[in-house]
Amino acid sequence: MLNLIIFGPPGAGKGTQAALLAKKYKLTHLSSGEILRQELKDGLLGKKIKAYQDAGKLVPDNLIIKIMEKAIKKISGKNGFILDGYPRNIRQARSLNKFLHDNGLGLSAVLNLKLSEKEAAQRILLRAETSGRSDDNPKTIKRRFGVYRTETAPILQYYKKMKKTTDIDGRPGIKIIFQNLEMLIRSFSKN
Ligand code: AMP
Repeated sequence: MLNLIIFGPPGAGKGTQAALLAKKYKLTHLSSGEILRQELKDGLLGKKIKAYQDAGKLVPDNLIIKIMEKAIKKISGKNGFILDGYPRNIRQARSLNKFLHDNGLGLSAVLNLKLSEKEAAQRILLRAETSGRSDDNPKTIKRRFGVYRTETAPILQYYKKMKKTTDIDGRPGIKIIFQNLEMLIRSFSKN
């Protein structure tokens, strides 16, 4: 079983690489942002979620933790999963750890896609032309980076202590990054 977390700032290419990895290793790709965008169709809760997303803020922990636990439970027994966009702060990381432990699941690795804010912002703006995402605009992007810096990036220390993180250069093109990820996965799945 391969249970992965793909980590990195908004625009680093997490979604793209997670989709490729999911295809190659037959993993379930669980993107918290995407799952939330699906929930938007759902009346009152949808309105609440959209307000957070449009402001570039994190939705409340209780809500996202419940949604993600349900999604992971649903796929248990399969080849594994790749989490994309979750966990996003230390409370979510701790809660995920407990959940995995309680359900007899392990974490294989945290793949940390490294990219500067400047480069990541450029990519998001490029993506905005086709994504149709209301949060892909300069003002919200700035806020999302702020949240990443203060709430999300500190989780890396938590996973470093668990010896779970590996860094990947997020600057090359999609193909090269994917090859590097494959190489990494090959190296740690041998152990
Ligand atoms: P993403 O598609 O990962 O960039 O997420 C888009 C937006 O969804 C974020 O800016 C948040 O508002 C919300 N979101 C996604 N994942 C989480 C999470 N783990 N915790 C809280 N909010 C989240």
